[in-house]
Amino acid sequence: MKLETNKTLKRKPDNTKLGFGKYFTDYMISATYTKEKGWINKKISKYKSISLEPSSLVFHYAQETFEGLKAYKNEKNEVFLFRPEMNARRFQLSNQRMCMPTIEINEFVEDIIQLIKLEKDWIPTLPQTSLYIRPFMFASEHVIGVKPAIEYKYFVICSPVGIYHQGFSCSKLLIETNYVRAIRGGTGAVKCGANYAIGLLADKKAKEQGYDGVLWLDGIHQKYIEECGTMNCFVVINDEIITPPAGISVLEGITRDSTITILKDKGYKVSEKQISIDEIITAHYNNSLKEIFGTGTAAVISPVGTINYQNKDYVINNNKVGEIASLVYNTLTGIQQGKLVDKYNYTIKI
Ligand SMILES: *Cc1c(COP(=O)(O)O)cnc(C)c1O
Repeated sequence: MKLETNKTLKRKPDNTKLGFGKYFTDYMISATYTKEKGWINKKISKYKSISLEPSSLVFHYAQETFEGLKAYKNEKNEVFLFRPEMNARRFQLSNQRMCMPTIEINEFVEDIIQLIKLEKDWIPTLPQTSLYIRPFMFASEHVIGVKPAIEYKYFVICSPVGIYHQGFSCSKLLIETNYVRAIRGGTGAVKCGANYAIGLLADKKAKEQGYDGVLWLDGIHQKYIEECGTMNCFVVINDEIITPPAGISVLEGITRDSTITILKDKGYKVSEKQISIDEIITAHYNNSLKEIFGTGTAAVISPVGTINYQNKDYVINNNKVGEIASLVYNTLTGIQQGKLVDKYNYTIKI
């Protein structure tokens, strides 16, 4: 890929105050797709603003998809990516669902490796920090009309990040009984911006009531749990770890998949099955509800300490981080940071 050297490199932020998604590195990948030529003008160049016509289709009909992955650096200055081919594959599936062009799996991964090698110095090394990588694609054809666009833009930008939201501490989630985020046949299993836009109002209202976000129920019965905000959801009842099936209205999270693999490998009983909010409340009353936690690249594991259902708060595990959540968190972050043996071959060293 062509590199246009950036002569004005930025001063790097204080790594103890990164927050999430506030700083962007010196470079980005960009490419254009046209129906006649396919992918053209792919390059690495300075991270800067772009110009688009107001009639660009993405602004009107939301043809947009994205991905999220992280690069880590250990004390030996070795750099790792976590399962990037999974992001590449999912990006293809998202793009197919949204009638958008796809990018070859190898190309997606190789391009990111080239970018990360260039931006190596931007990868923070303090605990709980990493370089967040955001690939995204959108319809840039300028015309007003509902149809798959014939022109697209693809970008990859990077942001050094610290702790997401409140980090590895317990959150309070409101079980959302009014709004829904996804429904069978829709785009719940697709990583597209539109899914996030429709979730904002519920999230805002939950925050106004003092919660950190919502726990979504299924869109048909409003009965089965689906996702913890923008994370996949796990519930521990007695010695069974349950997570709703992914791929229909639940996103196939890479952290979810890794969590299932790690827990099964450690001998836990993991079930991918529907679980209703009534079962969870019943389990709370008979003391068999042990833990609820969310999984996703940004926060890795996000334990839930309180859920509110129909105006009643239910405290889980005395509002403390549970044993399973801690185990998965330590295993995953240990592998990601190159501190634990990567027996699952999840990381690639670049
Ligand atoms: C990205 C995302 C997740 C988590 O997926 P990971 O691959 O683990 O980061 C879960 N739910 C939604 C809606 C998402 O967009």
